[in-house]
Amino acid sequence: MELFDSHAHYDDEKFDADREEILSEIYNLGVTKLISAGYSLASSKKAIEIAEKHDFIYTTCGISPNDIPNTEEELEQQLKELEGLLSTSKKIVAIGEIGLDYYWNKENKELQKQAFIKQIQLANKYNLPIVIHTRDAIMDTLIILKETQPAVRPGMFHCCPLNIELVKEALKLGFYISFCRTSNI
Ligand SMILES: [Zn+2]
Repeated sequence: MELFDSHAHYDDEKFDADREEILSEIYNLGVTKLISAGYSLASSKKAIEIAEKHDFIYTTCGISPNDIPNTEEELEQQLKELEGLLSTSKKIVAIGEIGLDYYWNKENKELQKQAFIKQIQLANKYNLPIVIHTRDAIMDTLIILKETQPAVRPGMFHCCPLNIELVKEALKLGFYISFCRTSNI
């Protein structure tokens, strides 16, 4: 059996001690394709390094709503750096994870929306799909998706909340959907 793990974070420091052993172990167990997803500039850089080292690993680059900086200026700077990363590797298969998270961060909704919209525009510019993280922000997520019209489909709703309207709309927009242990929160 061959498995494709569409979302993992092997750049995480908890794998620093034995990352190579774990990666070869999961490959031998049948995970023959894997996407190591970035969620900040630093993690995107590290995920690219990992993908460049392993044929079976691909990566995404993005700044998640929980990792955006505090000001518009810093965000602009980070988005520029993110765009610069895209030309550094052919293993980058999507922009993500990006989205909205009002569960962990309620105070910076406007900046979250800006970061989300601008990264969808970036994905559209480079013809890449997006990987979405959304939590307690279903309406705003849908509004932004309808307005920005992600160009490459399907993208992926990562850890999708169990909300029937969201699921219906996400499918209508042409997304793949993944559920996980926090999907019901
Ligand atoms: Zn993730």
